[in-house]
Amino acid sequence: MPMRDTKPEDTQIVSKKICITGIVQGIGFRPFIYQAAIKYEISGFVSNTLDGVTIAVQGKTQAVDTFVQYIIDHPPVHARIHDIKINTILPLKTNTFQIIDSQLSRNTSPAIPPDIATCQNCLIEMKDPSDRRFHYPFINCTHCGPRFTIVRDIPFDRHQTSMSQFSLCHVCQKEYINPFNRRFHAQAISCAACGPQVQLIARDQTVIRENPIQKAVALLHGGKILAIKGLGGFHLCVDATNDDAVCRLRKEKKRPDKPLAIMAANIDAIKGFAVVNSLEIEQLQSPQCPIVILEKKQHHRLSSHIASGETFGVMLPYTPLHHLLMTSFQGLIMTSGNTSDHPIVFDNDTAMKQLHFADYFLIHDRPIVNACDDSIVRIIDNQVHLNRRARGYVPEPIHLHVSLPKILAVGGHQKNTICLAHGKHAYVSQHLGDLSNVDTILRMKRAIHFWKRLTGIDPEHVACDMHPSYESTLIANELGLPVIPVGHHHAHVAACMAEQGLKGPLIGIVLDGTGYGSDQTVWGGEVLLCENHTAKRIAHLFQVPMPAGESSIKFPWKMALSWLRASFGDDGVQVFNQLNRGSIDNTSANVVNQIIQNKIHSPLTSSMGRLFDAISWMLGFTKPVTFEGQAAIVLETLASECTQVYDYTFCKSDLMIIDVRPMIRQIVSDILADLDISIISSKFHNTLVDIFYDLSYLLEKEWQINDIVLSGGVFQNKRLVSGMRNKFHKSNFRLSFPKSIPCNDGGISLGQAYLGGLIAGATAV
Ligand code: ZN
Ligand code: ZN
Ligand code: FE
Repeated sequence: MPMRDTKPEDTQIVSKKICITGIVQGIGFRPFIYQAAIKYEISGFVSNTLDGVTIAVQGKTQAVDTFVQYIIDHPPVHARIHDIKINTILPLKTNTFQIIDSQLSRNTSPAIPPDIATCQNCLIEMKDPSDRRFHYPFINCTHCGPRFTIVRDIPFDRHQTSMSQFSLCHVCQKEYINPFNRRFHAQAISCAACGPQVQLIARDQTVIRENPIQKAVALLHGGKILAIKGLGGFHLCVDATNDDAVCRLRKEKKRPDKPLAIMAANIDAIKGFAVVNSLEIEQLQSPQCPIVILEKKQHHRLSSHIASGETFGVMLPYTPLHHLLMTSFQGLIMTSGNTSDHPIVFDNDTAMKQLHFADYFLIHDRPIVNACDDSIVRIIDNQVHLNRRARGYVPEPIHLHVSLPKILAVGGHQKNTICLAHGKHAYVSQHLGDLSNVDTILRMKRAIHFWKRLTGIDPEHVACDMHPSYESTLIANELGLPVIPVGHHHAHVAACMAEQGLKGPLIGIVLDGTGYGSDQTVWGGEVLLCENHTAKRIAHLFQVPMPAGESSIKFPWKMALSWLRASFGDDGVQVFNQLNRGSIDNTSANVVNQIIQNKIHSPLTSSMGRLFDAISWMLGFTKPVTFEGQAAIVLETLASECTQVYDYTFCKSDLMIIDVRPMIRQIVSDILADLDISIISSKFHNTLVDIFYDLSYLLEKEWQINDIVLSGGVFQNKRLVSGMRNKFHKSNFRLSFPKSIPCNDGGISLGQAYLGGLIAGATAV
């Protein structure tokens, strides 16, 4: 420390109260404060409150200042300080520094951290035969382990978590109360003598007496399906190199096509089957430990049934149990423990019933309080794109640039999340799933109660989608609060505005599957002019009928027929039959043709997702869709390197219409001329980039706006995102994609909360 003149205040004793909010509980913050206080010879106390920690300090002026600066500059690795407030208080009657019990008062926001992947120190201990936690599958410390998934109430103290049922043994107790131990006040502390235990159970409920983990490893090697209880729920697990096991799992889980996630032992193992760059490694090894979408290697030893496209979803082990299981595998399939569209199973009894097709169950007795799926990340152009926000990220808030009233947003229908916002914090829940079954709806209703308690936000307004019959809208209407309906695509743009502090005016380009439009047609290829809480639709994709409504989402050929009719008039059916090559029977095609012709249950749609489906069918994807975005992923995978584009026009009426019928006609010519389908796919992607580039210049002339937000599920397409970034690179437009929330419907709740809050009356700051 530099020498300085002694000033009178250097000997003056001051007493201060320091209130810190942020992620400051369950990550070793109080021991850190304790040690800093000892270092700077400060007396007083520190305690957890409902929204952070409060420190009362007494010491020399300079020492207290240095102490505060030290907290700001060197907080524990997983801490996030949102705010520090310092007030002078009356002198304290103490000469020591103490950690005291939690104080139950709240000012702003909760301080619970997300779950944190097992740290290096714990791994070293777990692998050390002389350590008392050798091979203990629940080892954790103040820097790692379960948090959000075990918390019942706040503050984050052991008795408020599902660890409350395990009494500490005297050795753990000594660690827990020793401020210089790295497990001091580690709320999930335990050991083999006092903590949770694993158990291996056969399908017929027989308890296996052998070492459960060793036996589980042997069973996986033998091709068995195991249901394994993890951190936020069950995984279904098989050896990723075993074709038969992978196929059997697909069949039993009723998941014929959707890619399965892989857990790999380490980065070297990943390099054996996927291409991985430094940012991807950083994400894989981050405390959040998400699934990272990686490009497949051409030659690898994993089963070819894991994922049909060009990518694998890969994660590293994030609990001690995973580390112990992974030791002798290149990769294990670790897919969510559920069947088809149901939410992830998180308790032992339900697992035995719902996952009855598993051969064995590796379970444990630490209850999971909050089910939480694995998060999914994809790196595009060295930028992190979050496709699913759940374990590792929640309950961290999104920081806003405006102060919102207390508001709940109930999200969309698919990939539902809810959001509670108040002041400058918005809490987006973990991914809850599609609200198409009772289980997910119940889970969503429970999430509303839990998140209200967790955040202390008792909402005065509720925002929902404009769709009158979405399950989430019905739930919003039941709450007895003023309801603020928000347009689906406006919410997509607003989520990005909320996250990045953009007020507009800006152009929002939303390319999406389907969403309810304010003119009662089905929107999904929309350009909106957005400013604060307002939006004006200024352009959209040419509209075509969506024959038999929702059913054409499952059968892309119906959308292909619709686009061909729109592009070729009455000759469309003939063109369809030429391209069909027998995959769809004539009767079905004729029925759908009649439906379109007679406008029977065929709402008009401007959906970009449905255009992808149609083109994908024309290029050979003739199966029914079994998961969202499947046809579009196939189309993206097909695309090769090529710079050509197709024709399109903009038709200006009161709105700008993006007419891609010239493109459809050229695609048909290319197909009939036997042009390589990879070139056609590439030309299609290039055309979309050019469309929105040209359109941006046209709109700039009219509106003088250079800020563009791009969102909607279609932007999970790497080729499209990269294409947009490259094309706009040297332009004077500023492109923004959502970063910390998904561009798909998982981000809708944030946009709803933001818009609802602004409409209900926010205070700009
Ligand atoms: Zn640890
Ligand atoms: Zn113990
Ligand atoms: Fe959407």
